[in-house]
Amino acid sequence: MDSRLPETSREKLEAWLRYYDDLNLGEFYTDRRIMGKRSGKPPAVRAVTTAKTVPAAAAIPVAPVRVLPVVPTTSLFEAIDRVEGDTLELIRENLGECTRCRLHKQRNKIVFGTGNPRAELVFVGEGPGHDEDVQGLPFVGRAGKLLTQMIEAMGLHREDVYICNVVKCRLPENRKPEDDEVATCSPFLYRQLDVIAPKAIVCLGGVAAQTLLKTKDPISRFRGTWFDYRNTKLLATYHPAYLLRNPNAKGEVWKDLQKVMVLLGLKAKKPSR
Ligand code: URA
Repeated sequence: MDSRLPETSREKLEAWLRYYDDLNLGEFYTDRRIMGKRSGKPPAVRAVTTAKTVPAAAAIPVAPVRVLPVVPTTSLFEAIDRVEGDTLELIRENLGECTRCRLHKQRNKIVFGTGNPRAELVFVGEGPGHDEDVQGLPFVGRAGKLLTQMIEAMGLHREDVYICNVVKCRLPENRKPEDDEVATCSPFLYRQLDVIAPKAIVCLGGVAAQTLLKTKDPISRFRGTWFDYRNTKLLATYHPAYLLRNPNAKGEVWKDLQKVMVLLGLKAKKPSR
């Protein structure tokens, strides 16, 4: 470490280097031209298909049809393709007893994610609430019960899918995560998604969708549209907690989930008598 740096800067720099090490970014080059050579482009976010996004003049079925703005990013994580030999266990280990952002202060348990590590379908939420923080498991409170019903209506069980969040520590008063909290925690989510490599990702709510699609657009603008996220199909729908407050939106969410079922070849579960 450069001893010419003032103490506090040195500590900060050391903390950052440790963080990059935890993200398994490989060698850290100070010469950014080397990073540039390895990096390629940031992940392109591209809408795949839907009638809603086909331009008016599109009698000719031309895809791709809509491109969401990709915010230029300085994230070193996105500068690499994949962490070689990565596993969920290693990601959990690298996350450790995380104190990288302020959320750790009120956390009881880290909520890493749960389910089938080879799932074809991954649900991504925003961040744990009180019940999740107590149990260390995602979506186990009221919103979680609704999510379980949604999964079962799709003809699946919770154990068939993988469920995780953008941030892994409880959000106080159920507030939204701040940008810096998302920036700190989301690389662990990117790695989880890369390792699982599902056929489809369903983002539950705006925060998850905006994080993965690198947009600030409100979810209402692009809900129900398929996107290409690092070669995996991604669709955003409303968060189950939103559905608890707005039950009228359940129909729209069910339509979104039916698109996922078509993609995965699933049959809806018959309602039990
Ligand atoms: N809401 C979320 O976004 N995630 C959870 O795990 C629980 C509630």
